[in-house]
Amino acid sequence: MNVLVLNCGSSSLKAAIIDDVTGERRGRVRVERIGEPEAALFDADGPAVPCAAKDHGEALAAALPVLERARGGAPIDGVGHRVVHGGARFSQPTRVDESVLEAIAALTPLAPLHNPANLAGIIAALRAFPDVPHVAVFDTAFHATLPPRARSYAIDLELAKKHGVRRYGFHGTSHAFVAARAAAFLGAKPGDLRLISCHLGNGASVCAIEFGRSVETSMGMTPLEGLVMGTRSGDIDVGAALHVARAEGLDLDGLDALLNKKSGLAGLSGVGNDMRDIEDRAAAGDERARLAIHVFCHRVRKYIGAYAAVLGAVDAILFTGGIGQNSAVVRHKIAHNLQLFGATLDEDENRSARASAARPVIRISTDTSRTHLLAVATDEEHAIAGETAKLVARRDEVAQRSIPIAVSARHIHLRKETVEQLFGPGHELTPLKELSQPGQFACEEVLEIVGPKRSIAGVRVLGPVRPADQVEVSRTDEFFLGLDAPVRDSGDVRGTPGVTLVGPKGSVTLKEGVICARRHIHMAPEDAARFGVADGDVVEVAVDSSGRDLTFGDVLVRVSPKYRLEMHVDTDEANAAELVPKHAGLLELTQGTATPLRRVLR
Ligand code: ADP
Repeated sequence: MNVLVLNCGSSSLKAAIIDDVTGERRGRVRVERIGEPEAALFDADGPAVPCAAKDHGEALAAALPVLERARGGAPIDGVGHRVVHGGARFSQPTRVDESVLEAIAALTPLAPLHNPANLAGIIAALRAFPDVPHVAVFDTAFHATLPPRARSYAIDLELAKKHGVRRYGFHGTSHAFVAARAAAFLGAKPGDLRLISCHLGNGASVCAIEFGRSVETSMGMTPLEGLVMGTRSGDIDVGAALHVARAEGLDLDGLDALLNKKSGLAGLSGVGNDMRDIEDRAAAGDERARLAIHVFCHRVRKYIGAYAAVLGAVDAILFTGGIGQNSAVVRHKIAHNLQLFGATLDEDENRSARASAARPVIRISTDTSRTHLLAVATDEEHAIAGETAKLVARRDEVAQRSIPIAVSARHIHLRKETVEQLFGPGHELTPLKELSQPGQFACEEVLEIVGPKRSIAGVRVLGPVRPADQVEVSRTDEFFLGLDAPVRDSGDVRGTPGVTLVGPKGSVTLKEGVICARRHIHMAPEDAARFGVADGDVVEVAVDSSGRDLTFGDVLVRVSPKYRLEMHVDTDEANAAELVPKHAGLLELTQGTATPLRRVLR
């Protein structure tokens, strides 16, 4: 599939069209400084081109023609959106709808910089691509499995609950992606491995992955906690932060900026946040740069030790992100002398290892190392494309297996003679409305049904006329009228009770003809071939209604080239299943059987 992946920051938009399987880019654009007069567009790694982009909508509008040219007319099958914070609600990539938009907006207090930007990108893209599925992929989702002991802060529980204060973790898409890549490289399933994944980029986090599930991670309620990062302090005694704030007269925003924007490698080194520059300065003898690298690496090593204890055993330690994939110095400082859990760094391999799309996984441990050390290339956009494609494919599969449902109210079919007795000689039925089955129509004519106990007025006649009179009612109607009609296939009226019909020009007492129509599915031969059923089969159909899984058993399949795919249930059944007209739309067929429809009887 071709997936458009969007990653929106507060003043930037990155868009790429990605093949979900290979990760190949069919166009890549970046717009920076959105909202400023200096807004600029970069086509792939080309030079900056000034562009007018007051907001994310305009940025996307500027980016789309460039992508359009790059993809050469290939359709876009889905749009994947990176969303930073999914809170406690989102533990999976999720199809975007109205309620998802509202939920992402409601999570803004947890990610005040990121979620509004993510949301602006989604809204702009929904306008640009209203007809393709949009999927939100959350940085936090992979960590939904953190156990309470790992996700809880030791503060007043009520206060924590009230404000959503807990550890959520981030970089989940990357940790999950590199874990899967590493597992494939090792010839194992992620579910069989205990891994420690170190994502070391501008933002940095460690994650302990136990048999495919995140059980510990170093970022917390916000991305500030944990490792030393480009400009974030990572772990710091809150008392120290308060002390600095008091001593320097910083307000909360000032403290926020200090810890998020002016700390970390930049704060320690004094030469900015780029590890390449810091390494160069350190090599040239700069003490602050050296200290920055030492603190950075020591923090990672400390976490690895802690997470090894959390996991009990470690099959592999993964290094990813710009620093983890490329910096031999950093990997050496972190991973030398880890004999404690049998990990031996291969210094030669480490020195030359640069994990990239061309060589996504490189082993940097010796052949005899019990714990593998791997440099693994991450690709969050590819991961988002993959997750999006998975959801799009699932939706298509459900659509393939779905049957529209129609609720049939009580109604009457008449012979030509009966029409004349009730409405006068020579009377022809007057079509009011076409019905979904070709050739069938509801008539303007209505009748009163008079049963032994009570009567029901205003019952619609359906056309055209038929060879036999037939009155189709629900179970509730039967009780009301005071008769006992069997469940029958339409047309099978032998031995059924009769009833009196009263029309404007006369009444007719039928000797037989009242049935409670059996649930049935009309389908054309092509549908029958697709579902693997034949005319006369009796099947089960599952319906997801009001969040409950319900199964309609004993559903008759009726196949004819005249029919359009539709299942008919009566009003009682529709009420019991809480089907509402709109939702009534789709039925999913019984799952978990060899054929989608389970054949009960022939
Ligand atoms: P982000 O978190 O913004 O996605 P990246 O994963 O691209 O960041 O990582 C950026 C960091 O990787 C920068 O600090 C950069 O200096 C560092 N980096 C990239 N290449 C190298 C290299 N060859 N040696 C050391 N550090 C590198």
